[in-house]
Amino acid sequence: MAEIAVPTPDEALDKRACPECGGDLQWNAAKKALVCPYCGTVAPWAPGDATPVAIAELDLAQALAKEDESGRGYGTERREVQCRSCKAISAFEPDRVAARCAFCGSPALVPYEALKEAITPQSLLPFCVPDTQVRESIRRWYGTRWFAPNRLKKAALTDTLRGLYLPYWTFDAQVHATWTAEAGHYYTTSESYIQNGQTRTRQVRHVRWEPASGELQHFFDDDLVPGSEGAHAGLLEKIEPFPTTTDLKPYAPEFVRGWTVERYQVDLRLAAEHNMTQMQRAVHDLCAQQVPGDTHRNLQVQSTYRGRTFKHVLMPVWLVSYTYGRRSFQLLANGYTGTIAGERPYSAFKIALAVIAALILAGGYFWLDGQR
Ligand SMILES: [Zn+2]
Ligand SMILES: [Zn+2]
Repeated sequence: MAEIAVPTPDEALDKRACPECGGDLQWNAAKKALVCPYCGTVAPWAPGDATPVAIAELDLAQALAKEDESGRGYGTERREVQCRSCKAISAFEPDRVAARCAFCGSPALVPYEALKEAITPQSLLPFCVPDTQVRESIRRWYGTRWFAPNRLKKAALTDTLRGLYLPYWTFDAQVHATWTAEAGHYYTTSESYIQNGQTRTRQVRHVRWEPASGELQHFFDDDLVPGSEGAHAGLLEKIEPFPTTTDLKPYAPEFVRGWTVERYQVDLRLAAEHNMTQMQRAVHDLCAQQVPGDTHRNLQVQSTYRGRTFKHVLMPVWLVSYTYGRRSFQLLANGYTGTIAGERPYSAFKIALAVIAALILAGGYFWLDGQR
């Protein structure tokens, strides 16, 4: 992946203007295209399109060492505000700053003073699922959630639907590992023993331990680490995967124009550590699979990681937040695949009704049973 031609930041962030009137193009999820809001000109895009500018993988060590400010910012003016309640930082266009936090609904938003601008996203998946479709699947999702309180059904469940670009890190690395272990092979022997004065035999299982060793080459491609603070991690896992290895689009401001972008709070250093832990666990498992025999012990793995690169990418997510009682709940939809996952309150009343109904049924059954 290192041979890719890296676009200069200026090329990547070049504004794409409407070929008809020169206006700023804007991404439209329903049309899956960049559309001119002034004259309606459409510049279509399909996931299979050949990508004219290859998406750069950036060198991790270099990025962690450098102090300069290149490769930062969104390529267009954004105002960052932080929610006092859930701590999420949202980057809005100056004329579109929302009154409430998209993640928890709190009105307590304060300007965020960054020490440095956020690292410029290399790429993104644009929204492909329009809000109308998401509202429909939220309604269906809700309909199958039997124990949820009734008054939620008509309440603000879909009113607060917001499209957000969430920050993610993806990491690549080539690992070379050598391992040693004791491979265990099972074998059985017959043993005789005396019971009540009689000689009997039984089969006993033993393990023959033999030293074993081997090596492993593995390439990690786009290992994902979320950088979001606002979206609940458990829900994010449920709406993954995002097809980052195949469908990414080079970042350009027109894709995010009109949408809110969340600033990452898991920074590159922290995300890289997280990624290393994930890779080490995976390498250990891969080596364990190589150990011959029926079982193993004392597996020691030595690994070296080369060519660690990363990308900062934005993933499209539809989000509804609502409070019920004192708690805040979220419902997420993958803006690219449409996969949906949500938290919801349980209605104590409905659960109690169901329990009573079950008891009556069970009682009736035993009564009938007693009559036979
Ligand atoms: Zn135009
Ligand atoms: Zn919040």
